[in-house]
Amino acid sequence: MIDQILDYNKDFVARKGYEKYLTSKYPDKKLAVLSCMDTRLTELLPAALGLKNGDAKIIKNAGGLVISAFDSAMRSLIVAIYELGVEEIMVVAHSHCGACHMSFDHFQHEMIARGVSDETLDTIQKCGINLHHWLEGFKDTPESVRKTVETIKTHPLIPRDIVVRGFIIDSETGALEEIKNDEQPEAKPRDEGKVKYIK
Ligand SMILES: [Zn+2]
Repeated sequence: MIDQILDYNKDFVARKGYEKYLTSKYPDKKLAVLSCMDTRLTELLPAALGLKNGDAKIIKNAGGLVISAFDSAMRSLIVAIYELGVEEIMVVAHSHCGACHMSFDHFQHEMIARGVSDETLDTIQKCGINLHHWLEGFKDTPESVRKTVETIKTHPLIPRDIVVRGFIIDSETGALEEIKNDEQPEAKPRDEGKVKYIK
């Protein structure tokens, strides 16, 4: 397959197929999108968001997650903010995500079948790498989006004026559903109630 891609690439460059994609490294919409590597989203995601080449930094991984505060996704977001002028971040998970049902037990079984030894797995775990946490899927997509949004919003290196919002995109229609943080709608009536009581 890669050889076919290389042949195509020669032709693409020769016929100047790149001309309509020319832009700069700075995102015109000052936007970063963290999403999943799912093949259904390759073209659907930018099309459904109305994004063209040059509009946004698109960061992808399995699930569209920030797993830990200093992982690769978080690093990319920090570069996007401080080096490339990003002001808003969209976390976009999607329906029927393959990363949803991942289990370490399955990976372990497959790895051993493909020649990885038990000893190797043991050594990695003894080095302090929690493979269960690293490879386990998420059971609840909205909850997972909220967690990633929260990790970004409260990150010590993220400026407080950066807008971070979470969404789930329909993998077929491209429809976006916003996933709001539960704490915000709850906090408002409680505050209003207090004001009324004081009056
Ligand atoms: Zn996915």
